[in-house]
Amino acid sequence: MSVFSHLEFNSHEQVIFAQDDESGLKAIIAIHNTNLGPSLGGCRMWPYKSDEEALTDVLRLSRSMTYKAAVAGLPQGGGKCVIIGDHRKDKSDKLLKKLGEFIEGLSGAYIVAEDSGTTVADMKKIGECTQYISGVSNDSAHGGDPSPSTAYGVFVGIKSAVKYQLKLNDLTGVNVAIQGVGNVGFHLGKLLKEAGANLIVTDIYEENVNRAISEFGAEVVSPEDIYAVDVDVFAPCAMGGIINEANLSELKATIIAGGANNQLIRPEVSEALTSKGILYAPDYVINAGGIIDIAYQKNGKGVNAMKVHLDSIGKTLTSIFERSEIEGLPTETVANHIAEERIG
Ligand code: NAD
Repeated sequence: MSVFSHLEFNSHEQVIFAQDDESGLKAIIAIHNTNLGPSLGGCRMWPYKSDEEALTDVLRLSRSMTYKAAVAGLPQGGGKCVIIGDHRKDKSDKLLKKLGEFIEGLSGAYIVAEDSGTTVADMKKIGECTQYISGVSNDSAHGGDPSPSTAYGVFVGIKSAVKYQLKLNDLTGVNVAIQGVGNVGFHLGKLLKEAGANLIVTDIYEENVNRAISEFGAEVVSPEDIYAVDVDVFAPCAMGGIINEANLSELKATIIAGGANNQLIRPEVSEALTSKGILYAPDYVINAGGIIDIAYQKNGKGVNAMKVHLDSIGKTLTSIFERSEIEGLPTETVANHIAEERIG
């Protein structure tokens, strides 16, 4: 398995392979860049089919954390950790604590938080062995889970996109399709419903679909049909790599704005979106609420200051939309330029 010549390797500062026979820990920590501050990023536990797949994921995700933190104006760098294993059967206190020891050994270059397959409780366990941890706040405003803040940031971002593209000052009667009503998608749905939007949702888990029907009266379609529904906004809140040339031709929405990471299957898709007149809110800009939340849990500035920062996602997106129009570049490219200018 190559590292330095890996396609996703992008001058990462450190890639650490953390292994322990006794607990069964197999993890990779990637620290992409710490120019703006210590790297911050979630720890994902996933049954990767190969070490190569895990490496690809951690390299790509840690890089996007650097860009996300930079555009969000946080004094943080980008890092990520992946544990190779099934979170439903391979996770143990011993394994989590061992990972905590590895993270402690990095002396603060990487700060861990929860991600897919890990929970606030897991972070507390990891935190028994390291001080370099966030997302474990006991503050009643969020209890450590950053998903409501992510959803709020996406909500603010959708309002900005709707104002820019549709020239509407509020969301009354705006039709939104949400792909995936898990942690982020569900909270987003609630906010959109309260703001008067009409919702069409999909999910592969029936209980999540039922929750969306009972809590905010959403219309439901099958996962295959979500792209073609006649809506104003398509909000991907499930997995990455879902916008490709094939489903692009099905899309009726003129705005793509959702919480999922790495929504475009390839960066070039952003050019196709621009030519089709679709306004794309770059994923790592609109979903920055989670990293803002965990950064504020660590810096102790409080929930009110965090809310102001979350609201700034709207202004950041508007300036990206404007610059994209002026420079004739896809929004994703503009966001990358802003990040690179800040990272140096
Ligand atoms: P989650 O697992 O709670 O929710 C994802 C939902 O998508 C689940 O309900 C799942 O059943 C559904 N889903 C999966 N595949 C699907 C498919 N093919 N079609 C329809 N639905 C499908 O995860 P989450 O925490 O809500 O995160 C959602 C996305 O947002 C992920 O891409 C994540 O990386 C990203 N994100 C999350 C946060 C956060 O704070 N949780 C922050 C930034 C980015």
